[in-house]
Amino acid sequence: MSVTPTQLAIVAPLSGVLVPLASVPDPVFAAGAVGDGIAIDPTSSEVLAPVDGIITQLHRACHAVAVKTATGVEVLIHVGIDTVKLKGVGFTAQVSQGDAVVTGQKLLSFDADLVARSAVSLMTMVVITGAEGVSRLRPGYGEVRAGLDPVLHLELGARVAVQARDAEGPLVRAAVTLPNTDGLHARPAALLAAAARRYRSQLRISRGAATADPRSVISVMLLGTQHGDRLLVEARGIDAEAAVNDIAALLASGCGDSLAAGPTAAAAAAAPVPSAVAAAPPTATRPGQLAGVAASPGLAVGRVMQLRRKQFEVAVDGQGVGAESARLASALAEAARQLDALGAGQGASSQAQILGAHRELLADPGLLEGARTGIATGRSAAYAWRAAYMDYAARVAALTNALLRERAGDVRDVGERVLALLAGARPTALAVADRSILIADELSPSETAALDCRKVVGFCTTGGGATGHTAILARSLGIPAICGIDAAASALADGTLVILDGDRGTLDTTPDGAAFAAAEAARGVAATARELAQASAAEEAVTLDGRRIEVAANVRDAKETAAAMAAGGDGVGLMRSEFLFTDRDTAPDEAEQSEAYQAIARAVGLERRLVVRTLDVGGDKPLSYLLMPHEQNPFLGIRGIRVGLAHPELMATQLRAIVTAAPLTRLCVMFPMVASLDELRAARALLDPIARASGRAIEIGIMVEVPSAALTAERLAAEVDFFSIGTNDLTQYTLAMDRGHPQLAAQADGLHPAVLRLIAMTVSAAHRHRRWVGVCGGLAGDPVAVPALIGLGVDELSVSAPAIPTVKAQIRRLSRGDCQRMASGLLELATAAQVRAALAAFAGQP
Ligand code: PEP
Ligand code: MG
Repeated sequence: MSVTPTQLAIVAPLSGVLVPLASVPDPVFAAGAVGDGIAIDPTSSEVLAPVDGIITQLHRACHAVAVKTATGVEVLIHVGIDTVKLKGVGFTAQVSQGDAVVTGQKLLSFDADLVARSAVSLMTMVVITGAEGVSRLRPGYGEVRAGLDPVLHLELGARVAVQARDAEGPLVRAAVTLPNTDGLHARPAALLAAAARRYRSQLRISRGAATADPRSVISVMLLGTQHGDRLLVEARGIDAEAAVNDIAALLASGCGDSLAAGPTAAAAAAAPVPSAVAAAPPTATRPGQLAGVAASPGLAVGRVMQLRRKQFEVAVDGQGVGAESARLASALAEAARQLDALGAGQGASSQAQILGAHRELLADPGLLEGARTGIATGRSAAYAWRAAYMDYAARVAALTNALLRERAGDVRDVGERVLALLAGARPTALAVADRSILIADELSPSETAALDCRKVVGFCTTGGGATGHTAILARSLGIPAICGIDAAASALADGTLVILDGDRGTLDTTPDGAAFAAAEAARGVAATARELAQASAAEEAVTLDGRRIEVAANVRDAKETAAAMAAGGDGVGLMRSEFLFTDRDTAPDEAEQSEAYQAIARAVGLERRLVVRTLDVGGDKPLSYLLMPHEQNPFLGIRGIRVGLAHPELMATQLRAIVTAAPLTRLCVMFPMVASLDELRAARALLDPIARASGRAIEIGIMVEVPSAALTAERLAAEVDFFSIGTNDLTQYTLAMDRGHPQLAAQADGLHPAVLRLIAMTVSAAHRHRRWVGVCGGLAGDPVAVPALIGLGVDELSVSAPAIPTVKAQIRRLSRGDCQRMASGLLELATAAQVRAALAAFAGQP
């Protein structure tokens, strides 16, 4: 060991190869939640003291030991991942708490074979948990010998945060104008944080005088950014230039936000949003009725169950920095495991996304720094953690942006989960009676995700709004819900019989017999219709006059495909392959992609059609590993097919992988965002040789989602096998209205006569060439639009899996001839409102 008044070398406690902390397979250590340091992949099994000092901590399970120097630097050595579960088996301690030790002295030993067999990993973390006087930390690299080589170099000076980053060299800066419609809300902030954590330099983003740590989701959200804000990205350190370039490019691209599909649109995508959502909260219309914001549609009759939260008693004072840091680390790790377990098997559902965002919060540097500061001042882990997350939540709740404000609920939810673990509370499932209507101040997103939907028929929260996660989840679970209900709801006695109207946002607390009868009758009608639709879901959807319409599914993966086929899907009309490419650091290789497409093809089977859309990213949906220039108008830039053509190797790899699924299904390959015949020909030049080499019959088609494609459909139809109309994009490009613009939401209507005319042109061009036409945009699953689409002659509707039975049932009630006559009239109208009125009149006809 070498000690000078200004430096301290931490000597290797084990022999082995040094690994950056960020790479260890434990999110809590990797995020620096326990402290900064390094890991060793060990080749020895005797843990030696890394410094002279006192043993301040020796865990009961003997897998972790901490030594504190006379200058107050505490070093924690944690052997293996999840080794606490071994409860000491395989470990032998050679020291006791309070012992004075010298560098190189044996502290504990372990049976490497046994521990390696029983634990996730033997990776051993060496972490600075008490950072009194540490001004800088430099990790070593390469192979080290126990007791001889340093693994960390500490500079001792003025006290700074434990995770002092590499901060030498010139300051690098870049200014960016923020393109995100809703500012940096939770999702783009999370993407930004993930990117920022790849760099070692000190980083900062500022907006005027306000600054944020880009590694912290909440810190970024607290900047309270808005569309068009000028942000300054600054970095100093070893990789400052790369960090600033990357972060500035990411910010300029919208950080993964579909710039035309902000959180409002994301909420809408989760499930149909009741029309009342955007409107002002309704007021109660009669005595005994309480009103709030309609958050999830449907009618529920049930008994009130008030959900009152447990208050946890927490000790104010801690039992030493090391012990409290370790407590916090294990609570964070356990919370991460709980969230993983809750999210397991939920695919890419909105529940999974929310639980993922919660997991991200567990590693939020700002939140952890707050807790660590509390622990460093002598507080218990529970006390410090509670103060940190409550402070964070309060600051988020004070933001002016309503969407961001609602994320305060997520901070509290994650905070309470960890606090319960620190307080030793066992997680208990909500015990609810049959047909309960839950009433709570706020129902946390993870509580909502864990609800037993067989028993909970509805819920009301006095807090939250229609765009909060709770409301999004309620919609995707199909549970009627009201948010922001009159506080008087909290005073209702448990067991009170009530009627919840999730379409109107009202809770009837004193319904009379007639109201019950009406509600039960309405519920009965809706349930019977649903059941009937389910019962005949596997049958073909044939109109009254004998025309079969295929009802296929829009899917992302094999699991969703299997669910869609079980729900009666006639095939897959749109497999959005971009989900294989997003949220990762490198593109999936050919083998990984082949496996994914083949799994989906197997779920579809030989009898049905599988339409795989090639990568539809770019502009608004950047891929971190694809160099994409900043664009002023990303929706009019390198998007869809243009990305594939700009990166032919990426596209060819994907096409080769897709084609491997040909023997397993009726395979169709579809190119997105085609605007001209030249693009189609260039894409076919890549695909045709690959398809020919496979020796299989593969149909080739394009999405018609750009007006130019609809207008030249006649020419395009001659060179493809099918069209699928993407009404989401076709509407935005036809009307020049951003598809997620909050103020244009009502006007960006796919039922505008201009869009209907383009659909009509596309269908007649295709049919003249004997090609089939599907619709895979949102209009296909909208019951109001279905008669219009059938009338315009489409052959297939591709919708989300839950909508398949009801769309099929609706088709069976329609006459194609009637729809055709009605639709030809729609083309003569001038406005979307007129189209809607005509469709309402058509639906009302006997
Ligand atoms: C569409 O634009 O209608 C479509 C189905 O594609 P996406 O929503 O994936 O852009
Ligand atoms: Mg599209």
